[in-house]
Amino acid sequence: MSSIGTRTTDILVIGCGAAGMAAAAAAASCGARVILADDRDRPGGILPQCVHSGFGLGRYGNEMTGPEYSEKEFSRFEKTSAVYLPGTRVLEIRPDRTALAAGYGEITEVSFSECVIAAGCTEKPLWSLPVPGTRPEGIYTAGEAQELIELGGRDVGKRIFILGSGDIGQIMARRFCQLGKTVAGMAESGDHLGGMKRNQEECIKAFDIPVMLHSTVTRIHGYPCLEGVTVHHSDTGKDEYVECDTLITALGLLPDRSLAEGLVKEDGYPGWLHFCGNADYVHEIADGASAQGEKLGHELARKLMHGKEV
Ligand SMILES: Cc1cc2nc3c(=O)[nH]c(=O)nc-3n(C[C@H](O)[C@H](O)[C@H](O)COP(=O)(O)OP(=O)(O)OC[C@H]3O[C@@H](n4cnc5c(N)ncnc54)[C@H](O)[C@@H]3O)c2cc1C
Repeated sequence: MSSIGTRTTDILVIGCGAAGMAAAAAAASCGARVILADDRDRPGGILPQCVHSGFGLGRYGNEMTGPEYSEKEFSRFEKTSAVYLPGTRVLEIRPDRTALAAGYGEITEVSFSECVIAAGCTEKPLWSLPVPGTRPEGIYTAGEAQELIELGGRDVGKRIFILGSGDIGQIMARRFCQLGKTVAGMAESGDHLGGMKRNQEECIKAFDIPVMLHSTVTRIHGYPCLEGVTVHHSDTGKDEYVECDTLITALGLLPDRSLAEGLVKEDGYPGWLHFCGNADYVHEIADGASAQGEKLGHELARKLMHGKEV
């Protein structure tokens, strides 16, 4: 049976990704008592699944992979007195500055002075679009597929279609090619590819991914497994059937502020509630999320010490 424990801290940070680790480390290194809770069993948030290079250039002056960047940031965090609670999901933040968290066999009520939400973002799923047809196996968001492959050691299908041209979709298009799969196409409803120039060059052009602009998926076929999609080309008005056993969506990211929903008032959020990283706005570059977290951590430590320079 689970027990209810209590903890008290100056700052509760929710999310141990690039932003949360930096916020917690900065505040703790200035003398604040900090608890950092994350619902995953390991630190880094999204970083460990980003096995490609491209992280840390701004912050460390050299490029590394997501897991390497995560290790570097976590080792900075570990040198501080901040308490890390892995496998601990914060379920609720209350107006009386307490939070309820569920961890390994224990429910904990955490009392805090300041709270930082660094819970990352969510991916828009296919079902946020009006797409009729069956609901078969074989449909993933790009981040889900990335996590399954890179961390879960699992596989998706062999013939992939990608809807949306965001950065994660482009990075996964390259990854599928490297894994010997066929990328049957990438549909983008706009008139140009999304994402960073660098990904367009290194992931799409370099791997000859067939890009369909002015195009979107309008029907799903197959059950219980995906067999194909209908793609509508709005510039020609034509429909095309594309055979595929996997559909990946890269439709965009939304900051995850769900924990704060009940706390917003007419004049905004309470002064003790803060956001950083992708929970605040979507950061293309992890360095940006870390820098924002670090700045916030310093500011909160200073605030707790009544404005004294620390
Ligand atoms: C596929 C992909 C490729 C990228 N490539 C690059 C690149 O090449 N170079 C680069 O610089 N940047 C890249 N980025 C961007 C960068 O990785 C992110 O901007 C940054 O890592 C986001 O950090 P974060 O801390 O805001 O969120 P996250 O890393 O998402 O961390 C949030 C954490 O909060 C946890 N959490 C959520 N809710 C709760 C809760 N209620 N209780 C407890 N824990 C909770 C989550 O499980 C997660 O561990 C990429 C991003 C993606 C998705």
